Amino acid sequence: EPERPDNRARAEIDLAALRANVRALRARVAPSGARVMGVVKADAYGHGAVPCARAALDAGAAWLGTATPYEALALRAAGIDAPVLCWLWTPGGPFRAAVDADVDIAVSGLWALDEVVAAARAAGRPARIQLKADTGLGRNGCLAGDWPRLVGEALKAQADGDVRVTGLWSHFACADEPGHPSIDAQLTRFHEMLEYAEKAGVEPEVRHMANSPATLTLPETHFDLVRTGVAMYGISPSPELGTPADFGLRPVMRLSADVASVKQAPQGLGISYGHHYVTDRETTLALVPLGYADGVPRHASGRGPVLLGGAVRTVAGRVAMDQFVLDLGDDTVEPGARAVLFGPGDDGEPTAEDWARAAGTIAYEIVTRVGARVPRVHL
Ligand code: PLP
Repeated sequence: EPERPDNRARAEIDLAALRANVRALRARVAPSGARVMGVVKADAYGHGAVPCARAALDAGAAWLGTATPYEALALRAAGIDAPVLCWLWTPGGPFRAAVDADVDIAVSGLWALDEVVAAARAAGRPARIQLKADTGLGRNGCLAGDWPRLVGEALKAQADGDVRVTGLWSHFACADEPGHPSIDAQLTRFHEMLEYAEKAGVEPEVRHMANSPATLTLPETHFDLVRTGVAMYGISPSPELGTPADFGLRPVMRLSADVASVKQAPQGLGISYGHHYVTDRETTLALVPLGYADGVPRHASGRGPVLLGGAVRTVAGRVAMDQFVLDLGDDTVEPGARAVLFGPGDDGEPTAEDWARAAGTIAYEIVTRVGARVPRVHL
């Protein structure tokens, strides 16, 4: 094993849990006949892209999805040859490299189609493209009014041998809010846009729309493929929808650090920047060597929960860049004792969801922002 650059803390990644989550998602979409795309953008939501991609494929994921082309090319560089779709392009992006690497390129508009065609001609082989419809997210994707032109131009490029239209797809805005009227509206529009493209002559290998919340709760959105990110990492897309266990999922990441110092402190000692916490009696303080540079949200100052010495404690005072303090009261621990910020929750530790609540954010952000200097240990 290579020497680890940093042993004060680690994010342990339970790849067996990830594989079990992928199998649970496959079972959930099996009645629809859909397959699973493991979304591994943003370094697999902070879990480590290449090991997670491999584990997802081992467990039967059929596709991988990334946001940036660089993420897709990194999977290819690691020797992963499964189908990969990459959806967030900017002008001048590595279109040629993506064509050479057989990465499916999401196309939302004409400028991207032009760049793809030029790259395909330079490469001497057709590019695989997936046309993205904006059915009501208002982000990337082609709006219904522009769809006939985009479909027409893509079919022309296909007839010229420059591209192959492999997919038609879209993305939900509010799939995590059951009954939100935009869900049906987006689904209806997607059906219309699919029908238009298919009547015009597109024969896609895959049609897809569902993210994790849609995968878990809206079977009519499964089509040929579901694009699951957060659920694969064992996190519920929203606490209102249910817990991970409700969906047969298990959190994959456990973030912990070794206590750097323990000391007796007098009453009246101000703790950390701003002195927002002052000891109200003689007490024991433990220093945890993780801070906002490691992804511990500063917004959780005075609120974030941590399991240490058999009890869940609350961050005392501000989270600093590299460290924060816990007030142990009458308890004590040895330097080096393990403080667990979050994990699956079954050993009494908080979950990423608990941290999201403490910081006023979503669990997606908690795991994704775990900093680059925290080693990922893949189990
Ligand atoms: N599809 C697209 C286009 C995305 O941008 C994302 C992530 O936001 C996903 C799928 C996966 O979403 P989730 O993590 O909710 O499964």
